[in-house]
Amino acid sequence: MNTESVDVLVIGAGPSGAVASAILHKAGVSHKVVESQRFPRFVIGESLIPRCMDHFQEAGFIEEVEAAGFEKKYGARFLRGDEVCHFDFSQKFSDGWDWTWQLPRADFDKVLTDSLQRRGVDIAFETTVENVEFSGTDSLTTVRDKDGRRSHIKARFLIDASGYGRVLPRLFGLDAPTSFDPMAATFVHINDTRRPEGEEGTLITFDVIEQRVWFWVIPFSDGRSSLGLVAPVEYLEAIDQGNPNDTFRQIIRQSDYYSQRFDGLEFIFEPKKIVAYSKAVKQLYGEGYALTGNAAEFLDPVFSSGVCFATESGSLAAKLAIRQLKGEEVDWQTEYEDHMMYGVGVFRSYIRDWYSGDLQKFFFHKEVNEDVRRKVCSVLAGYVWDKSNPFVTKHDRAVRAVTHLLP
Ligand code: FAD
Repeated sequence: MNTESVDVLVIGAGPSGAVASAILHKAGVSHKVVESQRFPRFVIGESLIPRCMDHFQEAGFIEEVEAAGFEKKYGARFLRGDEVCHFDFSQKFSDGWDWTWQLPRADFDKVLTDSLQRRGVDIAFETTVENVEFSGTDSLTTVRDKDGRRSHIKARFLIDASGYGRVLPRLFGLDAPTSFDPMAATFVHINDTRRPEGEEGTLITFDVIEQRVWFWVIPFSDGRSSLGLVAPVEYLEAIDQGNPNDTFRQIIRQSDYYSQRFDGLEFIFEPKKIVAYSKAVKQLYGEGYALTGNAAEFLDPVFSSGVCFATESGSLAAKLAIRQLKGEEVDWQTEYEDHMMYGVGVFRSYIRDWYSGDLQKFFFHKEVNEDVRRKVCSVLAGYVWDKSNPFVTKHDRAVRAVTHLLP
């Protein structure tokens, strides 16, 4: 069997793998990316948050993504009946980017991989990782290409950025129970032909249908929009109309704000569904590997933190791997896992407080102090490692404390 050798093998070419690869390439580290699908390919996760921009900048992607003309995102709107709450990232407490993009991931992820290939990165598309064996930090990975041919890749370090493929968690039993009750999501793209002019047409919106049920609208720059519903698994079962198209039409009718705009519009594909989307692992690293992005942890779509976690972890894992390959001591527990899990912990508190209703009370309350709102806005922008923000450091109780004081 053919065997090639690299210093680092990256599994998966989504944003996590792409950012990791760009950083390895910049440092001159020999590496290869293997990706089971052919790009462009559909993946959900279309609303980014500003913290990602730091990683895209570091990876040298900003200019090419900018040139692709995706819709810029300056904030987000939350609706509940006739109540409205709008967060504008330029008002956030922390320093950093105050805009990002909302985009179809098939196109975006291809912009990133095209950029890497232009730089000379070796990406093997339609090549699936089947098995990995470790010997200390060295690994031997078995891959299968689209013609069914198998080959081996030897690596001194492995970055598992395989998303829901969760290659190493599956092979080595690393899955852990998640902290949230199982939730489900269903989503579709439409030609948004009745889109109003101006900001109203392009704003990302989260429409609260019930306390634990919300509908997303993510308009793209090409006239399509992404629509989705997130709800407890039983809720989606209860509204099931027997086929995905009828169920989604029923969902659109539940949004008082959007039903007229979207009713009867053609779906570009049959609505997709993901049940029990939340994932966790027992450990984020091991001897010779790191888990990044969705291959590690995914909480919930409500604050669009998935791609940010993917790029933060991809960037950090690559930098630490580079140091380790140079022979430097790396404390993966504190430098990687503790750092990543700190951010996950902050988002977990806000997601918990969203579904408990506390954060919704806060968002839609007219009397919330502007300073508090700016600090919460920073969290929503992904600046969850800014320890000068008390709404980061006291994430576990800050929102509840403020909410319980509101009339
Ligand atoms: P992916 O983008 O999934 O990339 C992983 C890649 O690995 C894939 O291309 C896959 O083909 C490849 N792969 C898998 N197995 C193998 C294998 N065996 N061998 C080789 N390659 C393999 N996040 C946001 O930021 N904003 C949102 O609005 C948002 N909405 C979401 C809505 C829902 C309903 C859900 C469930 C998630 C949402 N997310 C959102 C999360 C987002 O989808 C993920 O966090 C993000 O895509 C993770 O990026 P990644 O690079 O880790 O994985």
